[in-house]
Amino acid sequence: MASKSKKTNILNLKGEDKRLVGRLWQEYIRRHLGALLLAFVFMAVVAAATAAYTWLFKFIVDNMTEGVAGEVAGGVTGQQAEIATLAFVKLVVPVVIGLTAISGLSLFIQSVLSNKVALNVVGDLQKAMFAALQKSDYEQLTSQSVGTHISRFTNDVNLVATALLRTTNNLFRDLLTLVLLIGAMFYHNWQMSLVILLVYPLAILPIIKISKKIRGTSHEAQTQMGHITALLNESLSGTRMVRTYNLEKYESKRLGAAFTERIRLYLKLVTNQARVDPVMEVLGGIAVAGVLAFGVYQMAKGDATGGELVAVLAALGLAAPKARALGTLNNVVQEGLAALHRVFNVIDTQPRITEAVDAVILEDVQGALAFKNVSFTYGDGTQAIRDLSFKVKPGETIALVGPSGGGKSTIINLIARLYDVTDGSISIDGTNIKNVKLTSLRDAMALVSQDITLFDDTVAANIGFGRTGANPENISAKDVSAKDIEVAAKAAAAHDFITGLKNGYQTRVGEGGGKLSGGQRQRIALARAILRDAPILLLDEATSALDAESEDKVQTALETLTQGRTVFVIAHRLSTVKNADRIFVLDDGQIVESGTHGELMKKDGLYAKLRALQFS
Ligand code: ADP
Repeated sequence: MASKSKKTNILNLKGEDKRLVGRLWQEYIRRHLGALLLAFVFMAVVAAATAAYTWLFKFIVDNMTEGVAGEVAGGVTGQQAEIATLAFVKLVVPVVIGLTAISGLSLFIQSVLSNKVALNVVGDLQKAMFAALQKSDYEQLTSQSVGTHISRFTNDVNLVATALLRTTNNLFRDLLTLVLLIGAMFYHNWQMSLVILLVYPLAILPIIKISKKIRGTSHEAQTQMGHITALLNESLSGTRMVRTYNLEKYESKRLGAAFTERIRLYLKLVTNQARVDPVMEVLGGIAVAGVLAFGVYQMAKGDATGGELVAVLAALGLAAPKARALGTLNNVVQEGLAALHRVFNVIDTQPRITEAVDAVILEDVQGALAFKNVSFTYGDGTQAIRDLSFKVKPGETIALVGPSGGGKSTIINLIARLYDVTDGSISIDGTNIKNVKLTSLRDAMALVSQDITLFDDTVAANIGFGRTGANPENISAKDVSAKDIEVAAKAAAAHDFITGLKNGYQTRVGEGGGKLSGGQRQRIALARAILRDAPILLLDEATSALDAESEDKVQTALETLTQGRTVFVIAHRLSTVKNADRIFVLDDGQIVESGTHGELMKKDGLYAKLRALQFS
């Protein structure tokens, strides 16, 4: 009964939570209505079968006691009693087996159906989150650690699934079972049932108090679990640094502290959870004692049979675990709701960098590029570019040099529209990049940067990605011919080392290209950019990981590659810079000098000073 009176606050939903649940229902659960309804049918069967047990107990006890009573009274002979017992067993045994079989089978079907719905809902949530992240801005994506992102897809999604399953199982199956059992109890003997009704409300207060504690700790434990995921990700992806700097002990200590904290929090949590059981146990004992005392008194008066007493006790015994499950449901649901809130937050991420409704497709790009009074400030308030204006003709190669933090990478990010300018405008062939379709803008450029991204796929596929970007439906490199890939690889001085690999172009590169050297990875990235054949080339320290020999080869490749394209190159190496048509020297977000290598050396300004520093 305790649970029934608590029903109103089992899912203590506030306005915001109601919206969350409503949305989950509308967008994710409703489409599985058929499976859900079928699950409910089988839940009802389970509940009915459970309640039917009490009749079975009553029948068995009443018939047995009647037989025994008859024998004691001498009204029935021993032989007659034996025949009656045999008939009784023949009747009861199939019923017991039949009832448990029906109940077991229904439980199985219901369980599979509920899990299927929950898994589908969770899978859809994961897909929606991932799609939202793919659409979101570079800035939004990088503003949180990878571990935090991963935690949404693993921990949070699991919490939602658990809450969903517990809700269907406990709130529907168990509550229905409980209602039927209480109904049966009252049907069998309402006076005895009233005794139970008097005892159980005593449990409500302590259980509510414990629940509150559990909720607090549980929230703490979840947050901490996210923290552990983030720490693990950080530490394991930095293995190289950890090893070479002898940081193993430091890392073990750092992670160890987090694991210890997890033990403490979870111990606190299970201790609170374990408190519920003794409370229920003692109350159960009081209820049983009360029913027994009252029942025996009723039996003595001839107002009740032994079967009724056993049936009521059986109902009580069957109902107790359901009531207990309902008692802890609230916590699970609250956890699930908090996780759902975070999940929907990801799904609702609105990209700030968007296309204008009348955005045009950038076609036949010549590669003229202009910055007009461009200023840019990062989200944290760092002003990286100040009132920058310049024009670049198609086919020009611009080298960006200057002290670190001067704004070189930021310029490249702005051209690719990974960030939007705070002030001013950037145009390609005279069209403001804010007014062109994002895919066509990015199709017009190829970026090669120092942090090279290779996917765990074949070498051929990793080069082939260069041309598949325009066709998001076709992620494999199938629409790029093997010949094209080879030509690009040759131009990037990568062909020779690739054919030397175990499976040539079909060799898998391992996660993040881990099986290749830094220089090899860089040449694959260059081959990808060459294959892309884009009119604008953005090179961010693109040759930094090359050894002298391959740099020589790549340099030649780069010269071919840069011909007829507009190139922005951030480079420290003199050769790259020397060959540039113009050099922009950036300091504190402004161009402080510009010109050819010769002009700038003659000027003897910041560029000459930096050069002197480099070769001193
Ligand atoms: P460079 O490439 O010349 O070394 P950057 O363009 O990377 O310089 O950085 C320019 C300025 O912007 C620096 O002050 C740097 O600290 C800051 N900055 C770069 N990236 C970010 C970011 N994601 N968030 C905030 N500030 C940034």
